[in-house]
Amino acid sequence: MTLDAPALSPNKYRDTWNGQVIDRLGKEVKLSGWVHRRRDHGGLIFIDLRDRSGIVQLVFHPEESGNTMEIAHKLRSEFVVSVTGKVTKRDAETVNAELPTGEVEIHVDAVEVLAESQTPPFAIEGFQSEVGEEVRLRHRYLDLRREQMQTAIKLRHKLTSAMRRFLDGEGFLEIETPILTNSTPEGARDFLVPSRLQRNSFYALPQSPQLFKQLLMVSGFERYFQIARCFRDEDLRADRQPDFTQLDIEMSFVDSEDVLALNERLIQNLLNEMGIEVQVPFSRMGYDEAIGRFGSDKPDLRYGFEIKDLTEVLRGTGFKAFGGVIEGGGAVRGINFGRRELSRAQLDGLIDDAKELGAKGLVWAFREGDGWRAPIAKFLSAEELSGLNETLGAEEGDLMLVAADAPAKVATILGGLRTRLADRWELIPEDAGTNLCWIVDWPMFEWNEDEDRWDALHHPFTAPKGGFDPENPGEATAQAYDLVWNGVELGGGSIRIHDPKLQSQVFKALGITDEEASERFGFLLEALTFGAPPHGGIAYGVDRFAALLAGVDSIRDVIAFPKTASGGDPLTGAPSEVSEIQLRDVGIQLRKPPKPASA
Ligand code: ASP
Repeated sequence: MTLDAPALSPNKYRDTWNGQVIDRLGKEVKLSGWVHRRRDHGGLIFIDLRDRSGIVQLVFHPEESGNTMEIAHKLRSEFVVSVTGKVTKRDAETVNAELPTGEVEIHVDAVEVLAESQTPPFAIEGFQSEVGEEVRLRHRYLDLRREQMQTAIKLRHKLTSAMRRFLDGEGFLEIETPILTNSTPEGARDFLVPSRLQRNSFYALPQSPQLFKQLLMVSGFERYFQIARCFRDEDLRADRQPDFTQLDIEMSFVDSEDVLALNERLIQNLLNEMGIEVQVPFSRMGYDEAIGRFGSDKPDLRYGFEIKDLTEVLRGTGFKAFGGVIEGGGAVRGINFGRRELSRAQLDGLIDDAKELGAKGLVWAFREGDGWRAPIAKFLSAEELSGLNETLGAEEGDLMLVAADAPAKVATILGGLRTRLADRWELIPEDAGTNLCWIVDWPMFEWNEDEDRWDALHHPFTAPKGGFDPENPGEATAQAYDLVWNGVELGGGSIRIHDPKLQSQVFKALGITDEEASERFGFLLEALTFGAPPHGGIAYGVDRFAALLAGVDSIRDVIAFPKTASGGDPLTGAPSEVSEIQLRDVGIQLRKPPKPASA
């Protein structure tokens, strides 16, 4: 990483950065920063002074004039100080090779304490990873002082500024859209904000800028982007934030190919700036193929272990557990995980894994000769066993895992096992690099069993591919695309409907009545009647993108002030109860009375 030391005008606090003192060897410098570490060595006091650019060692000598030594004795971790002193070469044996400034030290001749610090609740230097997240977040301003956090937040800045630079260079305009608005359906619950001026009315925070960016295309801006805050009130899922950031893009007079081409250049450029080389065009895979081969709409293509369909091999089998499922329209599928030796307990553990993924059970088997070593081997004929071995490409000793259920469920179970076991058994080749793949040809709709209606798989503004038959919504394919990076969904988008009649038909197919459509989306339908250009776009999850680049597991590690998994902020205490007066102002009465206002 290059030195983080932007141009600095000398002032009363400092005339250079810690990280740059080498340029001033033999001269006096003035520095400011935090006491990172303090060591007392028989009369000499050593302080590691930290600023944004790095760390430099200060040396306090007892023979220094004035009260410098006296102050040095009182310095503690995280005190803020300003010092003047001479940049001096260290003796060869005291050079610290781990520190970029490790060849020099500052012989201090004056020091001023700018601020004292309480003892921090956790060490900034030599941070222990077992410090709980609650404590870290409660004192996030201290947590952010740690080198890992400084690096992550700087990397995020580098990413977003590269996004802006590239898109600006391509003629995209950065346009802000409202935060207090009406619902934008992206499949989550809205966060609501009561209006004081219009009693009984609520704003919704945007789940995305989707409708506004489409309106901006109707307005003729043609190329828009925004690094946009989005809000989705979803149930707790690992590593989600109720407010998160998207790179949101929209373009006019384009088809899918144009959008994909622009985005491949964007991603290639961004990764290049981060030191990762990728080739364009990226690979593409149809949704059905992704589900069939990998059991996921975001397949990790860095490794094989593909799902094979065994339904035909087993049709008519005497083994009820499989035969019954097949007769009922279900599927039997399996994965060959290669030669593997597992204990009985480990094999039973796999069944538990499958159950966690929604399976009723899981069959494990090892190829042995022409047949199987497996509890169920005796229920299958020699012909079935050899067919299974062949379809799964099993060789002697290979472990096969097989599940039987409704086709979509089998895909989820085996797809889930594939990713879990890839992790557990380290199946991802170390040199696999970065795999980028577009998932295309998504179904427009999926059937919502619970509510007995169709749901949009992407969102209701996505255009169908080819014609649209309102009688058969389940048949429609969407002009939608997701970009998947090593099994993680980085972004997704679509070509939009720009014909108001087609938009109305799609609303209808989703069970939205004309009345409801005009109430919720009347403004969009009307805008589409005033000459809407063909348009389409995409949005990327900036938090996820930054986390992948930083190599951290959690998006919380690339967000300056994130929420905990339960949506709270231990630092500010949000969400919190509000006063009776605030509630009265917005005309809200709680079912459970609020706490009485404190005096
Ligand atoms: N608005 C979409 C989303 O938030 C992205 C898009 O279609 O451009 O996922």
